Amino acid sequence: MQNKTLGLIGGGPKSLAIAAKNKVLRQLGFDVPNIILFEKEYIGFNWAPRSGLTSGDLPLGTSPLKDIGFPYYSFHWGEKNPQINTAMLEYSWQNFLIETYQYSDWVDRGQPSPLHNEWFAYLNWVFDKLQTSVDFVNGEVAQISYENEQWKITAKFKDNSSQEYCCDGIVATGPGNLSLPQGLPEHPRIFTATNFWQNYIEAKRKVKRRVALIGTGENAATIAIELGKLGSETTVEIISPNSMSYSRGESYLENHVYTDPIQMNWHKLTYKDKKDFINRTDRGVFSLNAKEELNVMKNIKLIPGFFQSVAVDNLDQLVVELIYNDICETRIYDTVVIAMGFAPWKTFMKLLNESAQQHIAKAIDTDVLNAANIEAHINEFLAVDKVKPYLHFPMLAGINQGPGFPNLSSLGRLSDHVLTRYIPVGNFADLPEKLYLK
Ligand SMILES: Cc1cc2nc3c(=O)[nH]c(=O)nc-3n(C[C@H](O)[C@H](O)[C@H](O)COP(=O)(O)OP(=O)(O)OC[C@H]3O[C@@H](n4cnc5c(N)ncnc54)[C@H](O)[C@@H]3O)c2cc1C
Repeated sequence: MQNKTLGLIGGGPKSLAIAAKNKVLRQLGFDVPNIILFEKEYIGFNWAPRSGLTSGDLPLGTSPLKDIGFPYYSFHWGEKNPQINTAMLEYSWQNFLIETYQYSDWVDRGQPSPLHNEWFAYLNWVFDKLQTSVDFVNGEVAQISYENEQWKITAKFKDNSSQEYCCDGIVATGPGNLSLPQGLPEHPRIFTATNFWQNYIEAKRKVKRRVALIGTGENAATIAIELGKLGSETTVEIISPNSMSYSRGESYLENHVYTDPIQMNWHKLTYKDKKDFINRTDRGVFSLNAKEELNVMKNIKLIPGFFQSVAVDNLDQLVVELIYNDICETRIYDTVVIAMGFAPWKTFMKLLNESAQQHIAKAIDTDVLNAANIEAHINEFLAVDKVKPYLHFPMLAGINQGPGFPNLSSLGRLSDHVLTRYIPVGNFADLPEKLYLK
């Protein structure tokens, strides 16, 4: 029987984790899928300055030990599990430091968080080790259609040429585009998080006295730190729906739910408790590192309010409208930065042509293909249940499968969940229970 083909969209940590596990499984004798890895720019692009997500000099929020093999605790592959865990160390953060002669330095400095630029270097080092085991397509996935029981992917290249690839399954990665309010006016002092980071030296120069920062997640926190460094001449008001910027829960229990949702009984929690947990630990919270930096910046303030709109008045000032406790308020600023989070499903949907959208909608029996509907159908393979060819969407797997799957918290586990779909060994659902009862 011909091997299946798995398409990985995006050359970031999730795709590299899957490609590395696939290589290790092949080396240990498993019949693995062929992998095509699509990347529109270059490997690790979202961790490099040009991406519009970072300056490159920001510290990684999670520990680098949560690398592409973490938690090195596969339980899906029968008696070969221990060999797989050991073989994955080849791609670990520590091995990267050892092979690049940085290990003792990192240890003696107290194992600091790497900067995004350093994480980018790690991802590229991993990719160099994988090159011969994946088909790398350095092109942008421009369209996905459903044809002959496969996904047909059209990739566009920088020279305007394009090519089609057929896959039995695809994994969509990355945060997608920023969520932006409708009707945002074009103005040199209204920034989205993306154009702020793409030109942040120039952007900081343009910033005047009064700044509104819309958003209370980690993206907003990093922008607040950058703006806070401008000193007492600049006041940054963070517009927060609840007048708070909560710090992220980062104790053992919280961290371990991210690493190992099965052991921590994630599946037994109610929807509300899961949502509360994610809000407390991930969405709309500032990391402890970011909080520490912000605490000493006297020019950062919190203003309660749901952002409604921004307009430009005839004095070229930016008029921001907010609502809090049913009361509408307008505030005047010189600069506005919008950092309200990302829309992974909405971004991905734009790639699906009509045949693909209809196919997915029919499989999950819905008229509305929105993020909430997809999230409700994510199964243990981190794929949309009943959709075949498979569509893995880890960015929306948090509620159903565990809060660590959309981010970097458990990439080794993520790769097991996805690849088990293509290399069936035993009964997936039974395995964890048996293991933890030992
Ligand atoms: C500034 C910032 C810091 C973060 N820090 C952390 C952290 O410390 N810890 C954590 O757990 N999470 C963090 N996150 C969350 C982070 O977004 C996810 O953990 C991350 O997306 C995981 O990597 P990934 O493999 O999904 O995708 P990414 O690393 O985001 O990679 C996606 C890739 O897809 C490519 N791509 C996009 N569209 C296409 C297309 N149509 N065709 C081909 N290629 C395409 C992009 O160029 C990019 O290289 C951070 C997010 C941001 C924005």
